[in-house]
Amino acid sequence: MTDDCLFCKIASGKIPAQIVYEDDQLLSFEDVNPQAPFHVLIIPRRHISTLNDVQEGDAALLGGLITRAAQIAKEHGHAQDGYRTVFNCNRGAGQSVFHIHLHLLAGRNMTWPPG
Ligand code: AMP
Repeated sequence: MTDDCLFCKIASGKIPAQIVYEDDQLLSFEDVNPQAPFHVLIIPRRHISTLNDVQEGDAALLGGLITRAAQIAKEHGHAQDGYRTVFNCNRGAGQSVFHIHLHLLAGRNMTWPPG
């Protein structure tokens, strides 16, 4: 827990969010500024600022975020049409909240390359 971290506050319940999944390791909630009809974030409860700060011992945690994203996509009916998962790392890639989070976007056609 980092006192000034927005997503730590969501993880601890100090700031409300529309939670779609949670367990002892991670949680998922709706993005407040959705970029697709379905847009949720999957975060670890433990504070990790960016992907640059991930250690080898975090592999299972990171894998858990990805497998949970796939499960949520399936549960919400997006597995067949498809979805996009994104980690933005640092400001140049668009990261604005410095607690790692996996974006899961679905419900519209996606273009490539991303902006
Ligand atoms: P990024 O730009 O990759 O760091 O993504 C941060 C995301 O967090 C953005 O898509 C924001 O819309 C989202 N966001 C910011 N504040 C909140 C909040 N209080 N609840 C839910 N999502 C948020």
